[in-house]
Amino acid sequence: MNPIGTRPPHGHWRAASLALVAVFLSACGSDDDPPVAVDSACQTSANGGVVVGSGVPGDPALPEPSSGYKLGLKPVTAKRYMVVTANPLASQAGCEVLKKGGSAVDAAVAVQMVLGLVEPQSSGIGGGAFMLHYDAATKAVESYDGREQAPAAATENYLRHISDTNTAYPLPTAPTVTTDGAAFSGVRASGRAVGTPGAVKLLALAHGEKGKLPWADLFQPAIKLSRDGFQISGRLADAIAANRTSLLVDPDAAAYFLGAAPARTAKPLGTKLLNPDYADTLSLIATQGPDGFYKGPVAQAIVDEIKATSGGVDTPVALTPGLTEVSDLAAYTAVKRTPVCATYRTHWICGMPPPSSGGIAVLQALGILENFDVAAHAPTSMDDEGGKPAVLGVHLVAEAERLAYADRNMYVADTDFVPLPGGSPDAMLSKDYLRDRAARISLTASMGTAAAGTFPGVTRLGTSAQEGHGTTHMTIVDARGNVVVMTTTVESSMGSFRFVRGFVLNNQLTDFSFSPSDTNGPIANRVGPSKRPRSSMAPTLVFEKATDGSRGDFAMGTGSPGGASIIQFVTKTLVGVLDWNMNAQQATSMINFGASNSPTTGVGGEHPNVVAANNGAGDTLVTGLRGLGHTVSVAAQSSGTGTVVRKTVNGAPALVGGADPRREGLVLGDAFTP
Ligand code: GLU
Repeated sequence: MNPIGTRPPHGHWRAASLALVAVFLSACGSDDDPPVAVDSACQTSANGGVVVGSGVPGDPALPEPSSGYKLGLKPVTAKRYMVVTANPLASQAGCEVLKKGGSAVDAAVAVQMVLGLVEPQSSGIGGGAFMLHYDAATKAVESYDGREQAPAAATENYLRHISDTNTAYPLPTAPTVTTDGAAFSGVRASGRAVGTPGAVKLLALAHGEKGKLPWADLFQPAIKLSRDGFQISGRLADAIAANRTSLLVDPDAAAYFLGAAPARTAKPLGTKLLNPDYADTLSLIATQGPDGFYKGPVAQAIVDEIKATSGGVDTPVALTPGLTEVSDLAAYTAVKRTPVCATYRTHWICGMPPPSSGGIAVLQALGILENFDVAAHAPTSMDDEGGKPAVLGVHLVAEAERLAYADRNMYVADTDFVPLPGGSPDAMLSKDYLRDRAARISLTASMGTAAAGTFPGVTRLGTSAQEGHGTTHMTIVDARGNVVVMTTTVESSMGSFRFVRGFVLNNQLTDFSFSPSDTNGPIANRVGPSKRPRSSMAPTLVFEKATDGSRGDFAMGTGSPGGASIIQFVTKTLVGVLDWNMNAQQATSMINFGASNSPTTGVGGEHPNVVAANNGAGDTLVTGLRGLGHTVSVAAQSSGTGTVVRKTVNGAPALVGGADPRREGLVLGDAFTP
């Protein structure tokens, strides 16, 4: 194991000064190029239909109870630019930026700032993110790591011991939160869970390199919405209600998300929320750049919140403070890393390198699947929802994932601290190695739990497998053909339940292993000073394979929230498009299936094509898998996949997008006129 590594030199934020670039604009919404495709021109129906956020009937931003699954979503076609996010107001903000000639990164900044307001349970400036970028002019694929970081003072016992002498778990303890087990619950809401946020520095770094519109302009949609107010959506209402008890620990969170004393009920669907504190924070970042966040009053407020020793609005609650200092915020650096890329049949696929395990795990699963005729096991009864996956198709994918998760759990962590086997992703992605792994798959029986692979000279390590659910994904293509796929997170829903200056603080450090070792040895993903916790986030870019075998044109971008299941959601979507020839919406909608490294295979029971009653006893896919020895769970799976596929439609180049029917997402773009 390496001692603490050093980070690569970081990029400097610079104020963007480029004037609005009005090239390549399709005349979206204008008379000479009327929108003809559904959701075209940043509108949601043909011929000058409904503008998102207008409040008129048909507006997708009008709050609806969250249903679990929205039936009948159709693929959306656009000509040059497209944005998919998990919230209509965020998609609208991104689309308007693209319409003005903004770059994909510009749109990502605007989208993130709106998401932090309207979907605060999932992401925001108090969290972290990973972005993959494709530059259409240079053909470069670059990745940006804005992962949260442990404070410099963190020790390997930071998450499990209050101090060297008090080895109790950090406070507050259960039953404050009950979602992920008692110890996790308490730690999650303690100051120890909060990592130094990375999203703002990531966006500033990317914008400094790829921005076209002025930085400050990109904050205006969110600032306006914060001051004018927005209505609580179905998913936000659910998140507030589910986390009500935990939100009571922080008076600022309670004041914003809950009603008046004494009842302090969760604010319901449709409640108008104003967030002037968030508007003020965004104004500081807009005018000062990341210093408006990482230095000065906002940084101090974050540190004060992390160091709080007590909370509670009506009943005092003792809290274990974190060890974050303003120096940790000032020192935070977003890092550019080399993306992990590999071929898959007729394509190249690029993903996020460590500290995310997402890229390597997805590419390993696909590299294993390459040894099988997956296309021969396509879904049947194809419909808008992605049809019914075949038993052997699901079996192969789930087995490949088991093998990939086994390696991920053992070997992948922040590579500034712990090297990968062989010192790069190459050994884990070698075609020979993956062929050997594929040979362990039987066509007639599930392997149950896979063993991690072995690599020459690499000693066996302990394993780490946790992750929560508070994340969102965006896929954006601009009019120049540049692409952003970004997955962005506060870790669990509502993060650490701490609300500072209008935004939620993450609990990302709980993605570390709480224990530094197990009986097999030290754990790669143990806590360390200034270390970044391992992630599963897997923003993914797909390219054609050129005739000489090199990486060719952009073909597809996708990604999803979902904790460790992200790897399964993304793999399923890629296989759906690349092997099973589904459109972007069908692949996104298709039943979620797959496995992490256990005997349980998930078949998402929220999907209309799954007969989930009686634990799936009447479902042919479920019973077929059980026949192969899989322990099948039909629990609902809350993916939030956002996919764009570049293809020829009616003889013309087009972008086809799909948003996940399990969330509130929306695809918007310019008019498609072949
Ligand atoms: N914290 C998780 C990760 O970084 C993501 C959680 C989620 O997707 O909700 O992998």
